[in-house]
Amino acid sequence: MAAVHESVLDAIGGTPLFRLARLGAGLAAPVYAKAEFFNVGGSVKDRAALSMVLAAEREGLLKPGGTIVEATSGNTGIGLTIVGRQRGYRVIAGVSDRSAAEKSDILRAYGAEVVTAATSVPREDPSHLFNVVRRLVAEIPGAWLADQYDNPANPDAHLRTTGPEIWEQTAGRVTHFVAGVGTGGSITGTGEYLKRVSGGAVRVVGADPESSMYGGGDGSPWYVESIGHFLHPETVEDRWPKAYRAEAVDTFECIPDRESLLTARRLAREEGILAGPSSGTAVAAALRVARRLGPDDLVVVLLPDSGRSYLSKVHSDAWMRQWGFLEDGDGLRPLLDAA
Ligand code: PMP
Repeated sequence: MAAVHESVLDAIGGTPLFRLARLGAGLAAPVYAKAEFFNVGGSVKDRAALSMVLAAEREGLLKPGGTIVEATSGNTGIGLTIVGRQRGYRVIAGVSDRSAAEKSDILRAYGAEVVTAATSVPREDPSHLFNVVRRLVAEIPGAWLADQYDNPANPDAHLRTTGPEIWEQTAGRVTHFVAGVGTGGSITGTGEYLKRVSGGAVRVVGADPESSMYGGGDGSPWYVESIGHFLHPETVEDRWPKAYRAEAVDTFECIPDRESLLTARRLAREEGILAGPSSGTAVAAALRVARRLGPDDLVVVLLPDSGRSYLSKVHSDAWMRQWGFLEDGDGLRPLLDAA
């Protein structure tokens, strides 16, 4: 029997696990996917948004009549807007002028005010998105910056919910947890919980784009959105986000874009799971890990969001061909041969 909720906020967390029976066929260790697109706003970031807003209320940073501000065009913006509007706040999303129009449209649909600013100018430039957002926070009375990259309530959401859910859903049989790293909140919180509850037995594996710096890459550009780390030469401070604690991660699997994207397409066709490109990276990494494991192992991989937001990208044959990710047929041959 499905649940009856008094508020959409109660439909954040409690997401299902799905066995990847087809993609994991022939592997001794079962691979289960945690489907975060079942959250009410459609992504794993609903958990962090709820956690950050409730923490800000507790700490007195956000009071009735207050305004939530964040530089985000994606899943965090949606989560913050849903949570913020339900709890009576004004929400302002600062969006890059290079971000797709649909992303601003969905934020407005949920009731956010969207402020667009440049991200291609130097970080010191007053017109840079980050400076515009900080100015809004300074000028609007009662405004609070969610600051997902450095907010401890982001990893804490996963320490309190995602980790315990996975432990309970697998009856403590999980041995490996695989997730991509954006802010690092998901892998840090979930990883720390699973390590703690298993007495250090659970291995935590970061799924990183090949050139991302989390996994040791040189920071050169990659395609898969929302995960990985690079240092803008002229702009960003030389440090990891505080939401990412490197000790929580044991190893990285570094996944080329092509393998990530083709895996996301296989997830839809073979498992009936329409997920985004970062889910492709995570599942590709999980399959690599599972190939080295035995029947006593159990792999859980986090799928951050739905493929509905990427129908004109990874799930479009034309787009895949245009960028050289799909040469002929369905493009699955090279991947199957490599397996
Ligand atoms: N995938 C997608 C689609 C996301 O929106 C995010 C969040 N930026 C991530 C992966 C990474 O999650 P986290 O920020 O918790 O590391």
